[in-house]
This record gives sequence, C-alpha cells and structure tokens, in this order.
Amino acid sequence: TKYVYAFTEGDKDMKDLLGGKGANLAEMMKLGIPVPPGFTISTEACQTYLQYGYSPDSLQVEVTTALRQMEMDMGKKLGEAENPLLVSVRSGAKFSMPGMMETVLNIGLNDESIHGLAERSGNPRFAWDSYRRLIQMFGKTVLDIDGDYFSDALDAAKESRGITHDTELDVEALKELVDEFKAIVERETGNPFPQDPREQLDGAVEAVFRSWNTDRALIYRRRERIPHDLGTAVNVQAMVFGNMGDKSGTGVCFTRDPSSGHSGIYGDYLVNAQGEDVVAGIRNTLALEDLEQLDKKSYDELLDTMHTLETHYRDMCDIEFTVEEGKLWLLQTRVGKRTASAAFKIAAQLVEERLITRDEALTRVNGEQLTQLLFPQFDDEADKTVLTKGMAASPGAAVGEIVFSNAQAVERTNAGADVILVRRETNPDDLEGMVVASGILTARGGKTSHAAVVARGMGRCCVVGAEALQVNAAEGTLTVRGSDRVLKAGDVIAIDGTSGEVFLGEVPVVPSPVTIYIEQGLDAGLAAAQDEATKELVTSVHLLLTHADKRARLTVRANADAPEDAARARAFGATGIGLCRTEHMFLGDRRQLIEKVILADSGEEQEEAFDALGPLQRGDFVGIFEAMNGLPTTVRLIDPPLHEFLPDLTELSVKLAVKEAQGEGVTAEEKKLLETVRENHEQNPMLGLRGVRLGLKLRGLFGLQIRAIAEAAADRIEAGGDPKPEIMVPLVGSVRELQIIREDAVEIIAKVEEDRGVKLDIPVGAMIELPRAAITADSLTEEADFFSFGTNDLTQTAWGFSRDDVEATFFNEYFDLGVFGVSPFESIDTRGVGKLVSIGMKNARSVKPEIQCGVCGEHGGDPQSIHFFHSVGLDYVSCSPFRVPVARLEAGRAAV
Ligand code: ADP
Ligand code: MG
Ligand code: MG
Repeated sequence: TKYVYAFTEGDKDMKDLLGGKGANLAEMMKLGIPVPPGFTISTEACQTYLQYGYSPDSLQVEVTTALRQMEMDMGKKLGEAENPLLVSVRSGAKFSMPGMMETVLNIGLNDESIHGLAERSGNPRFAWDSYRRLIQMFGKTVLDIDGDYFSDALDAAKESRGITHDTELDVEALKELVDEFKAIVERETGNPFPQDPREQLDGAVEAVFRSWNTDRALIYRRRERIPHDLGTAVNVQAMVFGNMGDKSGTGVCFTRDPSSGHSGIYGDYLVNAQGEDVVAGIRNTLALEDLEQLDKKSYDELLDTMHTLETHYRDMCDIEFTVEEGKLWLLQTRVGKRTASAAFKIAAQLVEERLITRDEALTRVNGEQLTQLLFPQFDDEADKTVLTKGMAASPGAAVGEIVFSNAQAVERTNAGADVILVRRETNPDDLEGMVVASGILTARGGKTSHAAVVARGMGRCCVVGAEALQVNAAEGTLTVRGSDRVLKAGDVIAIDGTSGEVFLGEVPVVPSPVTIYIEQGLDAGLAAAQDEATKELVTSVHLLLTHADKRARLTVRANADAPEDAARARAFGATGIGLCRTEHMFLGDRRQLIEKVILADSGEEQEEAFDALGPLQRGDFVGIFEAMNGLPTTVRLIDPPLHEFLPDLTELSVKLAVKEAQGEGVTAEEKKLLETVRENHEQNPMLGLRGVRLGLKLRGLFGLQIRAIAEAAADRIEAGGDPKPEIMVPLVGSVRELQIIREDAVEIIAKVEEDRGVKLDIPVGAMIELPRAAITADSLTEEADFFSFGTNDLTQTAWGFSRDDVEATFFNEYFDLGVFGVSPFESIDTRGVGKLVSIGMKNARSVKPEIQCGVCGEHGGDPQSIHFFHSVGLDYVSCSPFRVPVARLEAGRAAV
C-alpha cells in the first residue's frame, strides 16, 4: 500500500484517502493557488496505526522520501541549525470535524535551529514566539500534558510584566517562557523536550492519528453519523508565518455570507498572529475589508483567489489564509458549512448565476435542512431566561403552562390553555397528554426515547434528557438542580426543540413563512415573510421543491387516520394516504363495543355489537375519503392484539380480589370478563393474535370494516365525490390467509354495490411486514392488488427485536459497540431489512410487473431510507403529514 501522497499528486475527489483538507490542498495546488508545499499521509495509515498501535515501517520510509523531496523543493532541511525548514502536522478526515482533532505547528524547532530561524528571519522575537508555541502544542497534544500548565505560565509572564497581549512579550520574556515550558515538559514526562526534528515529526503524526479517538471526536461523530472506522489523514506542510511582524497576519473568510448566502466579503484578519489565534479570540480581529488598507496587494490577490475557488467548486467556500511579509498563502479551503436557510438561498442563487443546474442545486440541500425551516421559531429579538438545556428531540418552539399528567393536560387544554407536558420520561400511557400538549419536555431519555420518537411522528416540539431537571409529578413540582427555583403546574415555560433550550416564562413565537408557503402557496408564503431575506428564502424553497417534484419518481403519501390530518397532508403535497390505521377508531367510548364483541357468547350477540359499530366506522371513513377526494386512501384493517381493547389482566385480577376480600361480591359478568381477559392474555402479543390472524379468528370484525369502507365509498359517490379506497390486510404471512380475507371482501363489496346501485373499485392488498411475506411475495401476488412494506414491523421481525423492549435496554451499548451507527428503526437497515424489501419487490414484480408497491412506517420520512426505497424501485413512500415536504424533497434528490 502507498501511504504518502505529495500535494501535487492528489485532487479534490480523493477525500476518502487524503481527507477533506488534504484533497482540497492538492486541488488548490492544481489550480495554481499559492499553497505551502507538503504531503498527506493517508487515512489507511491511520487505520493501520489504530489497529496495531504503531505505524507500518513502509510509512516511515515513505515519509522520509516525501520529506526529502520537500526539503529539495524548499532548499532547506527539517530542523537544520542554519536555515531550518519548519512544518505543520495537521489532521484532516474525510468529513470535516472542526476543532475535534489535533494540529501541531512549528515542528523542527529546537535549541539549535531556533538561532538559525532568528538570524535568517532577522526577527528573533518571532522565532522565540514560534518555539514557545511548538513546546506548548507539542506538550499538550503529543505528550499529553495538561494544557493549563502552559497557559498559566503564559498568563503569569504577562502579568508580571503588566501587559495584556501575547504580542507585547519581548524576546527576553519569550526566552524565559521557553525555559519554563521546557521545565514543565521535563517535570511532567521525566524527559526533556525532544530535540530531534524527526522524532518531533513522527510523534506529532502519531498524536494526530490518536486524536481520531478522543472523546470529543467520538461524540461528534456519533452525532453527525460519521462512521468510526474512517480514520484521519495527516498533512505535513511547510510552515508560513503570520507572526513575523506587522506586515504579516492570518485570517479566515467565506466567499459568501454563510448565514444569508449573499456575495460579499466576510471574514476576519489578525495582524502578527499564527494558527488558531483568529478563532481563539485572544485579540480583537479586524474585518477582512480592513486588510485592503493594510496590504492592498495581498487583499486583491485574496479576492481573486476567492473568486477562483467559488467558480471552481461552484459553491460557497470557506478559507484559511496567512500573509507572510506581504506574501499571501492559502492554507485550507472547503465547501463551507451553512445554516439551513442559507443552504436553500445559496443553491437558488447559484442557479440564478448559472453556476449550477437545478439538478445540482437539489444536491446542495437536504430534508433535514428543510425540516428546520418548517417549524415555528422563537422570535430572535425577544428577551429570554434560560432555565436549562436538554437534547433537541423534535424541532419547533412551544410555549405553555406546565402540566405533569394526562388529566391536567386535557383539563387545561379544554380550558383553552397551551400546555407543556413535563415528565421524567414518557411511556405509551402518556399519549393522551402528548397529543393535546404544545410541547413535551422530559428529564430522561435520548433521541430515540419514547417521547422523542412519538413527538417527531406527531410533529410536536420536544426536548428530552434535560438532566438538570427534577420532576416530581406526585407533588407537582419542577426544580432545576443547582437552583432553588420551584416551578409548579400552571407556571409558563417555553421549549426550543431545535436547540434543546428551556426558557422561563412566555417567549414570543413566529410561524414559519416556509410552512405557510407549502400549505397555502407562493403568494401566501411571500405575504407572510416580513423582510426581504425571508422572501428570498421562500422563493428559494419554492424553486427547489418544485424541481424536486418534477424529478421525483417516488411519490409521497401520508400516514393519517383523521380527516384533519388527511387535509393537512394533502395541503403539504401528499398524493394520497398510504396508511390509514383503524385501531384508534376503536378506542374511547367504542372500546366497550369491542369488549362486547369479544365477550359475546353467541353469533347473535356479536352481530349486535358489530351493528352498533358499523355506522360509526363508516362515518370515520366518509370524513377521510372526503378530505382525500380523488386521491387514494389505503385503509389498514385492524392490526393490534385483542388484549389492547380489554382491561389489563393484573389490574382486573387485583380489583376483583379486593372486591371479594371486602365482601362486596363479584358478579357473574365480572367473572366472565376476567376469564376472557385471561384467555386472551399473551406472553408476546407482538407475535401473537393480531393482524390477519385476528381477522380470521373474528371474521365479522374485518367484515364490518370492509363493509364500512365500501358503504362510505358509496356515500361519497352519491354525494358526487370521488373516493379511492384501498383495503390493506396487515401481518400476512401466507397466501391462503390473504385469499380468505379477499374472498370475503369481494363478496361484501359486491353486496354493497348491489344494495346501493353503485360501481365500486376497491383494490385489496397486503402489508409486507413478515420475512415470510417478503420471501413469498411472488405467490402472495396471486391474491394481492398491491403491496405496502410495513418496515417498522419488518424491522422487528427481521431482527427479532421487540422495539419497546430493545431501545431502552441495550441500543446504547449497540451504538458504542458499533453493531449499528443509527437505530434500524430510524433509518432502514439496508443490508438486512432493506434486502427483504428488495427481494419482496423482485418476487412480486417477477409475476406482476405493474404491481404497485409502497412503504409505510417511519422510514418513509427518513431521508437515507427514501434514497434506498428509490433505488429498489418502489412507487411511493408514506410518512407522517409533517414529513411530507421533506420526503418530496428527498424523493427528488434521490432521482438526480
Ligand atoms: P483545524 O482542522 O482544526 O482547522 P488546521 O490543521 O487547519 O486545524 O490548523 C490549525 C491552524 O494552524 C489553522 O489556523 C491553520 O491555518 C494553521 N496552520 C496549519 N498549517 C500551517 C502552516 N503550514 N503554516 C501556517 N499556519 C498553519
Ligand atoms: Mg483549519
Ligand atoms: Mg405492522
């Protein structure tokens, strides 16, 4: 393996091997931009080092060769006494991880070469300043010495001389400081500061390798979903000096404003400084414009270079540069990070400037960024008191009264209040409160906790894991650790689901004009935008989203089971409902009717209960078909296990036992109920009597639903509407299961057609959520008009994970151990579960090439999963109404 690449050998597309920094340094070289020469040690060398704990021999040899070449180019030798070459050793991974890893400057200085540098440069102050920086950086990063020892000594040196800035330290002071720093090294490591330049170089290279695995780097990668096995490249580069005096300096700049996207001159410059001085904020920086006065030649050259880079990368770039005695050097560039709104504006601007095509513009934005633009936001101008900070789990801005329970939540919302549900953590019992609350705040749990997942699904603002909070629901108090403030139910707080902040009291909220645009059209969006910048944002989103719709092959449906949700989904651009769940329709008052069905002794009793449910269920569907007039609505027949509609076994047993003990006597009916509950109790209901199995056991229940769908469709047709229902059978594993239900359906639908004198066209399809269904999809096709992959259950059944049990108990360990980088419930596991989807697709289409196949489940709204679904040829994804715009954008992105 070749481990070392000179800057002249690489280019911008070699990021895997050279890291982003190395690849872009090479690219700038190619463009003829002044870059100090050097070479890059590949990420593969880092991977080997991390695996075995030492660098391969051949790396040592390649470094020698590359270094000698560099020495010849520069006419200097590393650390040589007379005229030393100095180098920087810089980290740089494939994905930028700003400030997460290490860099060491001024390698090659020692007790001899310091004199050479001082003499050659004619600037002893600069030379000694560089030496003390080397010992400081080397001590910290290579030798692992606590950095405070050095910075304390530096502060003491300034204090004893009564000065405030590093630059005011004179040669004598710096010499003393170097001695002190060397003493610190000797004291802390037992060895003197290494004088051998090559030893310094190798030590620094290995320290950069190791910095891949610092805690902060690990945490950063986990958050940004960067794989842990990539490793960093190391760039060894000739030093140029911004700290040579007043004609030198160092700076950073952007080719456009990273927050508005507008072109212009954005950057900072610091005279007589090196490396991180600019961003470290040790002295006040100048605005980049001021460089024009100081050094017009360098300034003009920098502007030209910015233009060259932006034209070449065809995107906003950020840049690090240094001026050494009036000569400009570029030290780094990359496509710059930007805010979500700038991403859309810059992409649209570049299309306008004819620098990129619309297709390319789609690659410059993503669904997550769009999500951020959709939620209401706190007014930036407002005064705020921060109580604490948790994890941003579901974006948005919510203000309301504190409530601690479902009952409080419902009571206060009925009274017209906005509420924030505050819980230590949430569980399925809290759903009622979560539904009515404007926001959800928990003290425990992470981004995949119950609260977070449910809140995201509902598009509800949510902050989780605010660990400083102590929630005492019983006493109705909320306190913040380390403060004696006690909050009670009814006190107003505000939570920011985008930043994780929790504020005390009312904070004004403004709706997002982007949302108004998506829901009501361009004119409404523009009218809602209060300033030019926001108008530009709305126009930019419009440009990109309409282009995405044009390019997308996947269409986007929504998961909705109430007319309001259906209407919202439609306004957001959904082309149908891909999953209308029916179980919620049997809760509340109707639960008793289901209980009756289950308890019925005779067919007659059961029929009675069905008859009572029928009209109610039909009303549900009429509302949804009306909201979705002209668009398909896939109704899933009832899915959950029976026991969910019955009282809890333990609770009921205890209740009756208590009654008996108190001599109250238990009625025959109660005994029978207990008996039935016991019969229906399951050890593992997720794999028990549910879905089509329930439908086959209680044929009348599915029958009732099918009839209600058909009658609702007939009602709508009579009312002049255009209903397009589709009947979906859940948890099918065998073609025979589907066949029986389908035959029932055909019969029922025919009956309704005859009774009502209408023509109904209602396809019947299967939900594919068992591995067996995917593998036998070709035979299922005989009985199915369409398929929809239920990837939530398919993930559970393929992995053998019971979601509610596994996420809380061991997923964190699994992330740490690298079993997966992201939960398979969040982003589809393409190798396993995804493979089942593609097998299912191939099987199905081998028999019926035209059969419509979609995906429902949370993956339908996840960007990475959407790209996968596009690639395996699905027709649509279905996701929660709030995710529809995001999915539209991603479907378009997947197609370009
Ligand atoms: P990061 O990735 O954290 O930005 P860098 O490798 O870019 O770290 O280096 C840290 C600082 O040192 C930057 O300000 C950079 O410009 C400066 N620097 C790096 N190499 C050199 C060099 N050869 N000459 C002068 N300054 C350098
Ligand atoms: Mg940098
Ligand atoms: Mg399911």
